[in-house]
Amino acid sequence: MQKGKKVFTNVLISVGGNRLQLAEVFFGETIERIEYRLSEPVEWEKLVSRDQWKKFQQQVSHVQTPAEYQAVDGHFLLLIPGGIDPHVHFDTPGFEFREDFEHASTAAAFGGVTTIIDMPCTSLPPVTNRQNFSTKLEAVRNRSVIDFAFWGGVSGTDFGNGALLHRQIRELAEGGVAGFKAYFVSGMESFTDLTVAQMEQAARWIGETGLPLAVHAEEKSLVRTREEQARQIGDTTWQAYCQSRDVLAEAVAVAQLIEIARQTATPIHVVHLSSQRALTLLRRAREEGIPITAETCPHYLFFTQQNFENPAIRNFLKTAPPVKFEADREALWQGLQDGTLEFVTTDHAGCNPEEEKTSDDFWDVYGGIPGVEHRVPFLFSEGFWKGRLSLERTIQLLSENPAVFFGLNHRKGRLSPGRDADFALLNLWESQTIRAAEMHSKGRYTPFEGVSLNAVVEQSWVRGRLVAQRGNETAAVEPGYGQFVRRGTG
Ligand SMILES: [Zn+2]
Repeated sequence: MQKGKKVFTNVLISVGGNRLQLAEVFFGETIERIEYRLSEPVEWEKLVSRDQWKKFQQQVSHVQTPAEYQAVDGHFLLLIPGGIDPHVHFDTPGFEFREDFEHASTAAAFGGVTTIIDMPCTSLPPVTNRQNFSTKLEAVRNRSVIDFAFWGGVSGTDFGNGALLHRQIRELAEGGVAGFKAYFVSGMESFTDLTVAQMEQAARWIGETGLPLAVHAEEKSLVRTREEQARQIGDTTWQAYCQSRDVLAEAVAVAQLIEIARQTATPIHVVHLSSQRALTLLRRAREEGIPITAETCPHYLFFTQQNFENPAIRNFLKTAPPVKFEADREALWQGLQDGTLEFVTTDHAGCNPEEEKTSDDFWDVYGGIPGVEHRVPFLFSEGFWKGRLSLERTIQLLSENPAVFFGLNHRKGRLSPGRDADFALLNLWESQTIRAAEMHSKGRYTPFEGVSLNAVVEQSWVRGRLVAQRGNETAAVEPGYGQFVRRGTG
């Protein structure tokens, strides 16, 4: 047997729409070839129930694996390209009292995610220049079980020296960052927000690199004025927080970004979009050909502000922007369906819940949801199972679209020969209940506590190696197996 040559036998793979093929996937570190077993693909509706699925298994013939390959039985489960979560805060180095790469990358692996792109703002130092980029790479190098890429960042504090900032942007792009992140409103001292004028300037310089500029889109003066007013009268409720970051705050910021994208022609990406109003602006701008895109997250697709009424999850649900209302939730699903939204991310941001999620003063509660472990089963359960998304679209939103958007598709995002053998093996015929106690991230808490999902991640593989097996507490590889992936040129 040749070392490292494997074949996944008896796996179902998506071949477009809701159609599936029974396949053998031959791989080493990369995918070698895929062989289909059925003369015609099978429609998902013929496999929906466990009985139909079992019957299907009995009807198909067995295969002989070539002797030089080690067979891995896929048990007729769904094999998808490993998930890519392009918006996470894994906090190494600098904020590791909240989260770190060992825990978070392990959580990702158990959640069917094989590549993440880590944000530049929740590191110390922030990834705003070449030296800080090297510091971060050095700090993370031996600490991840899955592959990772980095965002570069533009902080308001860097605008003191324009020529220097311009050079930093160029050097970060040359270093292989996947894109640039900036804020219209930031609560971080080490990574401050940009004025509209600064955002426009940053977009021009980033435009020269061909990379996207991603922006946290809430309008600062609205957010801060309302916050100050509420604090002055001692209003510390969740209602006051949500009111300070309302639909208007997001819509105004998105409108500003549309104008900047129009003026500069730089691709601008709105992170964690939360409202129907902003989505409508975005859809119209895209119809005009303006280079603007957006993502949303599971919490915006599942919760509304009504859920803040529940004290058991209230503080765990705090994030910025806050979740909105029923019409927004439905509109975001529609945006995923019709292509207005590019992909689904988690904005994974954890903390020690005993220390930072217990305050009665909602302004003091840390804003962040550690969701990287739940995104893949969530989208299959709430999107695909509920008929909101096709099988093909679900997989695009989780893997292929982020790979293409961030230039990782020379290696990631598809089950095709030559790409990295990154897989998630999913059981769609079993359900699970989300439990904080079973999470692998450093801070174990989630607003999704008790939510049942009709999809379970059985295994994750990175570059031909099993990295996570359902039921285990730890990853199947050592931290450090995960590699830095630079943005490709193609
Ligand atoms: Zn974020």
